[in-house]
Amino acid sequence: MESQARNQTDQSKQIILVHGPIIIGAGPSGLATSACLSSRGVPSLILERSDSIASLWKSKTYDRLKLHLPKHFCRLPLLDFPEDFPKYPSKNEFLAYLESYASHFRIVPRFNANVQNASFDSSSGFWRVKTLDNTEYLSKWLVVATGENADPCFPEIPGIKKFSGGKIVHASEYKSGEEFRRKKVLVVGCGNSGMEISLDLVRHNASPHLVVRNTVHVLPREILGLSTFGIGMGLLKCLPLRLVDKFLLLMANLSLGNTDRLGLRRPKTGPLELKNVTGKSPVLDVGAMSLIRTGKIQIMEGVKEITKKGAKFMDGQEKDFDSIIFATGYKSNVPTWLQGSEYFTEEGMPRTPYPNGWRGGKGLYTVGFTRRGLLGTASDAVKIAGDIADQWCDDIMGPIKNMCTSPFVFFSNS
Ligand SMILES: Cc1cc2nc3c(=O)[nH]c(=O)nc-3n(C[C@H](O)[C@H](O)[C@H](O)COP(=O)(O)OP(=O)(O)OC[C@H]3O[C@@H](n4cnc5c(N)ncnc54)[C@H](O)[C@@H]3O)c2cc1C
Repeated sequence: MESQARNQTDQSKQIILVHGPIIIGAGPSGLATSACLSSRGVPSLILERSDSIASLWKSKTYDRLKLHLPKHFCRLPLLDFPEDFPKYPSKNEFLAYLESYASHFRIVPRFNANVQNASFDSSSGFWRVKTLDNTEYLSKWLVVATGENADPCFPEIPGIKKFSGGKIVHASEYKSGEEFRRKKVLVVGCGNSGMEISLDLVRHNASPHLVVRNTVHVLPREILGLSTFGIGMGLLKCLPLRLVDKFLLLMANLSLGNTDRLGLRRPKTGPLELKNVTGKSPVLDVGAMSLIRTGKIQIMEGVKEITKKGAKFMDGQEKDFDSIIFATGYKSNVPTWLQGSEYFTEEGMPRTPYPNGWRGGKGLYTVGFTRRGLLGTASDAVKIAGDIADQWCDDIMGPIKNMCTSPFVFFSNS
């Protein structure tokens, strides 16, 4: 997959010509793309900044996390989940699946390879990808698989530096409610993570106050034993989007009651339409709603200001807290390292929307930036592999292929 050259002028810098595409990121998207390429006979090299595959799932998620969607919506291409896995695999089961996926397709990423810079060199027609350890990788193809969730997002709230009550953490650092036992905790953000962390805090006898600043759609995870997401997908095959949204909202009202009365105002746009237009996912309730109803999770309006001991809220209330957890989401990090490409927005998302955002031109591809979770990843990975495999022919790569006895070919000036 790789050929390596020592730069003539700078002995400490390595230049590596990659035999096949460079994939940045060894999360589910990078692994799926590598597997699909390999099934089409195309080798690839994955560069991963951490020391393991699926670092988001391994190190930045809470212990009680299970896949939000049933497993058949989360499978990667070419290999199913084990049959004995539950409908909603736990985080550890999902990680075990990804480990076996990587070993099944003999995927061996380069770990601790943090990409700092990537740009297209129009004179050579190659992508130049530089990592923190002063290595430069060259390839005709660059697959961006660094994820929509590469870096945590913190909102700018006045007074945040004043807080001296206790811990301030992002949801990506939260593991379990154990360390918050009997503590009064402010949870900022009411997406799937904020809701589930609040639920976990109650299970550990903590007292969460959940800040709901904007409108939010909460849907039951299942309706009559069937996944709500699955029902939505099925109905969309024969009914218009707005009708499906109406049906889902009717079922949500029957199952959860009027969420507005609990302080969770619904957006005017339906849940699937909103997801399509803004990418914002509805919350799938896994038990938090009943705790909100009984007051064990308290809903608070937006935070006006963080104080030394707690927070002041928009409705004028002021409360003390022992800790603050920001479940305020993540952002793509592409703009920090991809140079000179017009293909990504300032937010690090492809300019061309799903389903056509996977191909950026000049050998640039993106996988996992569809706002459609692992389902989007699987669809991107298959398309990218097909497109690159069609270009992978002897007249382009012949000379390099001939030099390969292993995935890596080494050029040296010695
Ligand atoms: C709490 C939580 C629960 C979720 N549950 C679901 C679910 O049930 N179903 C679902 O479909 N989706 C779910 N998602 C969305 C989930 O993030 C994606 O589906 C999946 O992890 C995306 O995979 P990815 O490979 O695109 O990105 P990631 O998993 O984020 O992997 C990207 C990889 O790129 C690496 N990387 C980033 N920058 C660099 C760099 N500069 N150099 C080298 N490497 C780099 C990262 O270290 C990481 O390993 C969930 C997300 C979260 C946060």
